[in-house]
Amino acid sequence: MKYKRILLKLSGEALMGSQQFGIDPQRLEQYAQEVKRVKELGVEVAIVIGGGNIYRGIQAERTGIDRVQGDYMGMLATVINAMALQSILEKHGMFTRLMSGFKIEQVCEPFIRRRAVRHLEKGRIVIFGAGIGNPYFTTDSTASLRAIEVEADVVLKGTRVDGVYTADPEKDPTATRYTNISFQEVFEKGLNVMDMTAITLCQENNLPIIVFDMNKTGNLYNLVMGEEVGTLITTNK
Ligand code: UDP
Repeated sequence: MKYKRILLKLSGEALMGSQQFGIDPQRLEQYAQEVKRVKELGVEVAIVIGGGNIYRGIQAERTGIDRVQGDYMGMLATVINAMALQSILEKHGMFTRLMSGFKIEQVCEPFIRRRAVRHLEKGRIVIFGAGIGNPYFTTDSTASLRAIEVEADVVLKGTRVDGVYTADPEKDPTATRYTNISFQEVFEKGLNVMDMTAITLCQENNLPIIVFDMNKTGNLYNLVMGEEVGTLITTNK
């Protein structure tokens, strides 16, 4: 296998499946099976999950809720998803730990870097909930930061699109997919991959990102095995 320790970023929105809100049980089940396949290879797996299927801080301003308050609500939404994911992974026989960016002692451990690394070494899947615990950040930035902290080999951004395109493929039929691209080009071309903070963190720490379609069965396994799946973003193309 190509990667020994991965940080998988799952968006909250993807968890909705075909629903308009919340968690689609079939999608959750599929994710558990995908993760199990790579876990069985002996890969160390850390996961950051978003909360967009439940709440985003940016929505708050439209409804008269204070932005910072809204961001904390968004972070709590990620904890709800993380708990659902934890539960389904354990149902499939995997060992997990949920670590939170802020204190919610009854349901999560606080994030302590050394402890997270130890869990990974012991084969536990570590799920990072509540983002980094600060407003004005996203779970993409959380994914980059935690990946650097636990020294993951790669950030795997699982989305519903199969990589990075020259333009939005859902709007522009002439858009083509990159197989490899540099961080610099992502900035120069203004490509919509992850937010700037997330990409900058990876660039500065020379941590590759792969954007791939998490909804396609076998993709996660194949890319961990070194197959060319999605778009690889690195310092040098
Ligand atoms: N959030 C935050 N700080 C963080 C991570 C998340 O304030 O470190 C809030 C923010 O409001 C964000 C929401 O949590 O909109 C849900 O996360 P995100 O939008 O990244 O989820 P995704 O797009 O992956 O579903």
